Amino acid sequence: MTFMNDDRQYVWHPFRQEKNSQPLLGIVRGKGALLFDEQGGSYLDLVASWWLNLHGHAHPTIAKAIGDQALVLEQVLFADATHPQAATLARRLVEVLPESLTRIFYSDNGSSAVEIALKMAYQYWYNQGRTERRRFIAFEGGYHGDTFGAMATGRTTGFYKPFESYLFQVDFMPYPDTWEGDPDVDAKEEVALAWLETYLVQHAKEAAAMIMEPLVQGASGMRMCRPTFIQRVAKLLREHDILVIFDEVMTGFGRTGELFACQKIQVTPDLICLSKGLTGGFLPLAVTAATEAIFEAFLGDTFDKAFAHGHSFAANPLGCAAALASLSLFEEEDTLSAIRRINSIHREKINWLSERHPFIQYGRVMGGIAAFNLKTSGKGSASATGRRLKEEFQKRGLFLRPLGSVIYLIPPYCITSDQLIHGYEQIDDVMKVMYEELMTLQGEFDGV
Ligand SMILES: *Cc1c(COP(=O)(O)O)cnc(C)c1O
Repeated sequence: MTFMNDDRQYVWHPFRQEKNSQPLLGIVRGKGALLFDEQGGSYLDLVASWWLNLHGHAHPTIAKAIGDQALVLEQVLFADATHPQAATLARRLVEVLPESLTRIFYSDNGSSAVEIALKMAYQYWYNQGRTERRRFIAFEGGYHGDTFGAMATGRTTGFYKPFESYLFQVDFMPYPDTWEGDPDVDAKEEVALAWLETYLVQHAKEAAAMIMEPLVQGASGMRMCRPTFIQRVAKLLREHDILVIFDEVMTGFGRTGELFACQKIQVTPDLICLSKGLTGGFLPLAVTAATEAIFEAFLGDTFDKAFAHGHSFAANPLGCAAALASLSLFEEEDTLSAIRRINSIHREKINWLSERHPFIQYGRVMGGIAAFNLKTSGKGSASATGRRLKEEFQKRGLFLRPLGSVIYLIPPYCITSDQLIHGYEQIDDVMKVMYEELMTLQGEFDGV
């Protein structure tokens, strides 16, 4: 396994303590929901490879679109030129997004899409001489990427301690995460809304925008909230002209059951960030979509009103070709019905697991996403158990990556019912094998 030796010697992996993490999987091939290692061992990709993949690995339609495009035009600078794939994709996205999102700004990763949204929101006010509008609001537990602006708005995830003193001020609102049969959901929502009402009395005129992951906070543990709650938050923000930014980098492209979470909530944000599933998970591409009102606030006779931001690979033609192919697959393969099928298996199996294992709590499902927590009220070491869990999943051919005490599934939509049910049976088996250990967990899990 030469490439594994090279990897050990030369590579530095993301979000990983290289000193004591479990061994890496060496993946040489993918097909549908499966990943294969060099020995031909297969792993069911139950996390869509960090929430990217939609229609399956190495899907021939997307692979062909990329190959064909590479033979025609691989890249052109996007400041003073354009190309058919970027223009067509922009039109297609505007067609499927809520009506008032009409302008597509391209970049190449989710963190950048977030930085762009934050900068657009701030400069929108600045260009109108409203420099007092400089505060940002975000939810506790929200994750928006790992660049500085994204870290500032996501600092309550606890990932960024070394950088704390460099992060700009953000005002954090309580987030009422909930689950099946949660008796306190109304009370939690009222606490959060009361916080916002008080905040608005003091600071409404100083707030530029609120950024949020609508309906599901991914990285902080697939924490879900109710659509009606987001509706009420958006209404309050709107009453005070505060811009609403939806970071749909994870929730976009069907994860919550609709193409976008904003459609499920029936709230149109002023700015929306998309990446991850945009290309079907094939290539790095991102967009920040804005309303015409925001676009127009950047028009002027001099450059200083313009948005001075651009990435070398903005609107890369290969990425745009992949995104167009992925969007067409939503229709050709009736992807939204596949998500409904996955959703009903999730519901049944999360209940089944919860009934069988006393240490499972907070079972929750939305669209193609399912999650539950492991209770950590005993006295065993959670951090050692986290590594053992990954090993046990791996041994059974599952590619899962728990977030702390949260085990979640967010499979590619091409997963067959048999594959998904098999996945749940294997998870059940791991829970049985590790019963003693899981009954006595305590403290924090390591890593993310
Ligand atoms: C992954 C993620 C990001 C960051 O995207 P990258 O492409 O990893 O930079 C931002 N926001 C959310 C909600 C995400 O899940």
